[in-house]
Amino acid sequence: MKPASFDYYAPQTLPEAVALLAKLDGEGCDAKILAGGQSLMPMLAMRVARPDALVDLRRVAGLDHITEADGTIAIGAMATKRAAEESALVRERQPLFHAATQLVGHRQIRNRGSVGGSFAHADPASEYPAVALVLDMQMRAVGPDGERLIPADEFFVTYMTTALEAGEILTEVRMPVLPAGTGWAIRELSRRNGDLALAGVAVTLRLSGGVCADARIAAFGVDATAVRLGAAEDAVIDQRPDAATFARVGAIAAASLAEPMSCIHASADYRRHLVGVLVERTLVDAAARAR
Ligand SMILES: Cc1cc2nc3c(=O)[nH]c(=O)nc-3n(C[C@H](O)[C@H](O)[C@H](O)COP(=O)(O)OP(=O)(O)OC[C@H]3O[C@@H](n4cnc5c(N)ncnc54)[C@H](O)[C@@H]3O)c2cc1C
Repeated sequence: MKPASFDYYAPQTLPEAVALLAKLDGEGCDAKILAGGQSLMPMLAMRVARPDALVDLRRVAGLDHITEADGTIAIGAMATKRAAEESALVRERQPLFHAATQLVGHRQIRNRGSVGGSFAHADPASEYPAVALVLDMQMRAVGPDGERLIPADEFFVTYMTTALEAGEILTEVRMPVLPAGTGWAIRELSRRNGDLALAGVAVTLRLSGGVCADARIAAFGVDATAVRLGAAEDAVIDQRPDAATFARVGAIAAASLAEPMSCIHASADYRRHLVGVLVERTLVDAAARAR
């Protein structure tokens, strides 16, 4: 199928884009932002989305930076995933985000798909929302009322829905550099290489005095948004980082999922089982890196 007809706008600056979105909104026009098009274009082609207008951000200058200042890495929303993947800064200073990026789709998708597009799209099976929860990331949004920073635990509201207001543009995502001595891991299971995950888990783990001192664990692909696994985090604290601990914490993580998603590719029970296995294995990986 081909997309339904729409008007197309290509603003050159951020203020121009913000003003354009506000004007279109005021006219009752359903306008959508176009970034890399890797999710939006298929949705248009299948007519799952039929916006009146597209506002293309690709010519807007200043949205594709990857920088670090004062222990915070900032990635412009229009930086491609490939740019994040190839960035030595991201690879060396925030390896969890780097590893998550490499799990997104295929190289062709990462060549065009933007970092910000994945956050704004908020697919529950996407790697980034879970990593954002684990890393306490912040999202910078600019709209007609100015600029604001939205913490990750408020940004992802529900299935493909974020806290971005109408007319707001996600301009940057921010994350801390990984503290020295903190281990990390991300694992997922998908039916084919490059597919969205049936389920996945991202963790960070800090060891101190021979025990697990701090852990952050989030799962994706199991609920309407990525979820922190608080019971599993609590269960690992003050425990020795050994195989028995991690197997027990995996079982606690699986049991703590209220009602995992179910679809033709994976039942709720299977997803629950996957989360248990992935929590156990990511904790093993993270402990090895922390040491
Ligand atoms: C075969 C295939 C496999 C894939 N596998 C994965 C995967 O494993 N993991 C994964 O996470 N994703 C996967 N994706 C999705 C892909 O990562 C997309 O690139 C991403 O979801 C959207 O980024 P984009 O730049 O292409 O955004 P677009 O498709 O252009 O936009 C997506 C949505 O976000 C909105 N949007 C985009 N940018 C902004 C912004 N700056 N401010 C506000 N709203 C904005 C758009 O209006 C639209 O609603 C896959 C896609 C395909 C086709």
